[in-house]
Amino acid sequence: MHKIGIDLGGTKIEGIVLDKNNNTIDRKRISTNREEGYEAIINRISELGHELLEKSISVKQICICTPGALDPTIGVMKNSNTLCLIGEPLQKDLEKAFELPVFMENDANCFALAESILGAAKGYGVVFGVIMGTGVGGGIIINGKIHRGPNYIAGEWGHHVLYPDGRDCYCGNKGCTEAYISGSALEKEWEELTGQKHMVTDIIEKGFYKDHPEWKERFILNFGRALSHVIDIIDPNCIVLGGGLSKVDILYSDGKDAVYAEVFSKQVVTPILKNKLGDSAGVFGAALLDNNQ
Ligand SMILES: [Zn+2]
Repeated sequence: MHKIGIDLGGTKIEGIVLDKNNNTIDRKRISTNREEGYEAIINRISELGHELLEKSISVKQICICTPGALDPTIGVMKNSNTLCLIGEPLQKDLEKAFELPVFMENDANCFALAESILGAAKGYGVVFGVIMGTGVGGGIIINGKIHRGPNYIAGEWGHHVLYPDGRDCYCGNKGCTEAYISGSALEKEWEELTGQKHMVTDIIEKGFYKDHPEWKERFILNFGRALSHVIDIIDPNCIVLGGGLSKVDILYSDGKDAVYAEVFSKQVVTPILKNKLGDSAGVFGAALLDNNQ
């Protein structure tokens, strides 16, 4: 029996076929062309999926990693950074295209699942998977299964409030973690400080921060404070970092120390790991959803 996973990203759509032992049978990547709109995206996913179906056997459903989530009450997409998907019945339209059940999961849960089964967090019981990129998200895996919660928000630490009455967040609240330690928030803060546009990885790796050490100190302090809250509440066996900011090496040294300093325990042993699957976590996570619902 084969599993098909498709990762629907803002710039590319990637599909994979895995066998029952999670070996890769086939894999293909195409561009999303999201500027062509919703119908075109449906057609591209459909073409890619049908091509993968030809090379697979006994596929029971198609599993898709999506930016944003399906609103289960009305069956349409919400919170997606691919704007043309918002309000559209993506799942229903894809089931029509494939004549198969379609299951969808958000990218943070797919990332956490893939890393816990095939990546850096393999072998750990409770895994907290973090995505730090343009936004901040997360997913919780318990013994190889996604923990979603009755409100479908488990792991969404990006909108946990770090500073009451702090910075505005796009979600409508103030002071969310995402408004302080997402790539976009940190880059905006840097621009306000220096008048220059740089990526977080460059600010750290090229040493630009040395002219404004307070920027780096705040970043590390906020990272530590935000993740220490997660440890205090779920005490995972490990934390695995993904997204563009997972490439920032000081998060595994200074960042880890800042986390440990704030946890409600003198002894903290939680490993903070760098992901192993990189950009491929989404597509592997999608395929692994096949028996993970
Ligand atoms: Zn928020």
